[in-house]
Amino acid sequence: MKNRHFGDVDGIKEGDVFPDRQALHNAGVHLPTVAGIDGDSITGSSSIVLNAGYVDDLDLGDEIIYTGHGGNKDGKQVEDQSWDGAGNKGLLISELQGLPVRVTRGYKHKSPLSPKSGYQYSGLYQVTDHFEEVGKHGFIICRFRLEKIASTTTSPTIVGGSLPAGTANPGRTQSTVLRIVRDTAVSRETKRLYNYQCQVCGITIEVKGVRYAEGAHIKPLGKPHDGADQPDNLLCLCPNHHVMFDKGVFSINDDFTLHLIGGKLSVHPKHVLDISNLKYHREHICIN
Ligand SMILES: [Zn+2]
Repeated sequence: MKNRHFGDVDGIKEGDVFPDRQALHNAGVHLPTVAGIDGDSITGSSSIVLNAGYVDDLDLGDEIIYTGHGGNKDGKQVEDQSWDGAGNKGLLISELQGLPVRVTRGYKHKSPLSPKSGYQYSGLYQVTDHFEEVGKHGFIICRFRLEKIASTTTSPTIVGGSLPAGTANPGRTQSTVLRIVRDTAVSRETKRLYNYQCQVCGITIEVKGVRYAEGAHIKPLGKPHDGADQPDNLLCLCPNHHVMFDKGVFSINDDFTLHLIGGKLSVHPKHVLDISNLKYHREHICIN
């Protein structure tokens, strides 16, 4: 599998300016010297450059509505875009797997945030949504919402009472993050081993050909549990079974039968689980 670097590049900080695309390539920020998306349809997309390539791009600073790749000639859309294009599929993978995307603004990009000349690295963004619409030139375009990854992402949550009235036209309101799924290199490998099929129910979530599952740590990470981020402490689960497992709605016996919900955990022959982690989960998380 091709190696692709996601996240910040060593020695490069937000605000750094590069004279041209070759310099951006040499620094390892964005490898292609022409294409706006640095990505592929297997590992995901790791970087984009905003440089007035597409008339439909919208840049609000911390939020960017980015037009995907394809069907564009000299800044004009001449045919429909497809979700199968490597860069577009790559951005979908980055969305579903929570991979960060480096954003660089070029001097031709119409925004007060663009540099006067050259290309300025603008930091890491998360792909939070994708949708399809008819662009200004009348062709279908694939679009992505990217939101800046802040160092702290906590926002207040109000629980209880009656359902809030909501708003018909919310605009850019702050959303509440319900839970953050930790996705490490090890959990990505574990999910690939199972081809993103839940080890409990066998279900795979598939979005336009890109598969989604979650890596669940058996003995939780962090204090006070201090579980390891290693394959023998990881499961590949669908979001429902991930939450149920984390909250102790069920647990797993040493013979992989499922305590409280019945059935049996599917375990790949190449996946060796540390039985002591299952015991820990039974004794500390699923106390029934
Ligand atoms: Zn499941």
